[in-house]
Amino acid sequence: VERERELLAVVPTDLLINGEWRSASDGGSLDVNDPSTGEVLLSIASATPEDGQDALAAADAAQRGWSRTAPRERAEILRRGFEAVTARAADFALLMTLEMGKPLAEARGEVAYGAEFLRWFSEETARISGRYAQSPDGSSRLIVMKRPVGPCLFITPWNFPLAMATRKIAPAIAAGCTMVLKPATLTPLTALLFAQVMQEAGLPAGVLNVIPTRKAAAVTGPLIKDSRLRKLSFTGSTEVGRRLIADAADQVLRVSMELGGNAPFLIFEDADIDRAVEGALVAKLRNGGEACTAANRFLVHESVAEQFSEKFAQRVGTMTVARGTEPESKVGPLVDEHTRSKVHELVESALAEGATAVVGGHAIDGPGYYYAPTVLTNVPANARILSEEIFGPVAPITTFVDEAEAIRLANATEYGLVAYAFTRDLNRGLRLAEELEVGMFGLNTGMVSNPAAPFGGVKQSGLGREGGFEGIDEYLETRYVGIADP
Ligand code: ADP
Repeated sequence: VERERELLAVVPTDLLINGEWRSASDGGSLDVNDPSTGEVLLSIASATPEDGQDALAAADAAQRGWSRTAPRERAEILRRGFEAVTARAADFALLMTLEMGKPLAEARGEVAYGAEFLRWFSEETARISGRYAQSPDGSSRLIVMKRPVGPCLFITPWNFPLAMATRKIAPAIAAGCTMVLKPATLTPLTALLFAQVMQEAGLPAGVLNVIPTRKAAAVTGPLIKDSRLRKLSFTGSTEVGRRLIADAADQVLRVSMELGGNAPFLIFEDADIDRAVEGALVAKLRNGGEACTAANRFLVHESVAEQFSEKFAQRVGTMTVARGTEPESKVGPLVDEHTRSKVHELVESALAEGATAVVGGHAIDGPGYYYAPTVLTNVPANARILSEEIFGPVAPITTFVDEAEAIRLANATEYGLVAYAFTRDLNRGLRLAEELEVGMFGLNTGMVSNPAAPFGGVKQSGLGREGGFEGIDEYLETRYVGIADP
């Protein structure tokens, strides 16, 4: 508790605009809560639309100079950021646990994952390049060059407070773009601490501006319609993403969208069931199930369904639910009451539709937004819980009879972020990799996120990719220069 107080005492609570920490123009604030108690951790400045304008003006003013810095200079700022976040891993992990609720061990995992985007893109910075070619008829030359897109607006969610920010900020820095970050209202503290670390790492004023706010739409709406903005990258719900894409149409703004998912987790009759159980625990319970990549539907071959369900439910039932700071915690609280009641509503509707709760199925009494890890069997194919994103520690299990049905069920959703499958048959694995309508596919693993790989979805799960070689392209424009035959 002493350490918590010491850490909170050094977290910046102001807006970062043009390299300066300042309070909101109307003096307004927003409270950040601890989801394990519902109590206020810190009160921070809440940006007004005017502050938003100032942040965009700062990004716009910094853009030209920043785009002309040497790639090595940008790379080294990113590298120093990586070193600094890593050196302060314990602080970042504790802060995320405090404001978001995840167990400390997972928060440490996120620090490593989030910091890795800084290292990965520091390495990519010096690799940005184009090409020179002769036209096919020999009459001219063509140069293709990459230019930074320009000032970006980032809107990030609360479930991964560090990684969702660095996955956008790092490639933007690498590409030479400036930016305004509107972190999630529920978890802005990590982003503020990170911005301070980047400032110390030498990021020039105006390159990264951070404006937490209670009035997300009122602050970001005018920025999205502003001709100085060149790019919007959003991670969050499909519902909000759709609206932002519509808003972005006015300026024909470039957008990247990491939206919702409805990940199927397929277990075939030839799977190693014990490995599948381990994979399922990670795919379902990591981050308390509050991840767009969380397994949302377990589709199990009918011949192994009982065996899998029993083993999985037994393990889920032993997961310790506790405040994330407790060393034994495997599942922390959900982020707020709204999220918890949505989870419970889906469980209740599944039970009403004929499902059985083998373990869990209820909220946990007392302070904090805890929900018991839950396994549901006999879930009917048309149950609401199989078509909506659960975002909580609830695993609905249903069955299939053959590969064709498994693929049909897996694809029967408007989402297309990720799918997981367990099978010992590599040919089947490759068929699935080709047939499943997803941006990412995990074969015999319950986790795919990797800074060196392109993260993103198809269908209504989004547009664009983050991470990998692809991640930097989101921040680069292609310019072609035609030249007469010399
Ligand atoms: P989730 O709560 O599941 O993360 P949301 O889509 O509600 O998903 O929120 C993601 C981010 O989008 C948060 O930073 C939130 O404040 C922001 N946000 C929500 N609604 C709007 C909106 N209408 N305009 C701009 N930002 C929004």
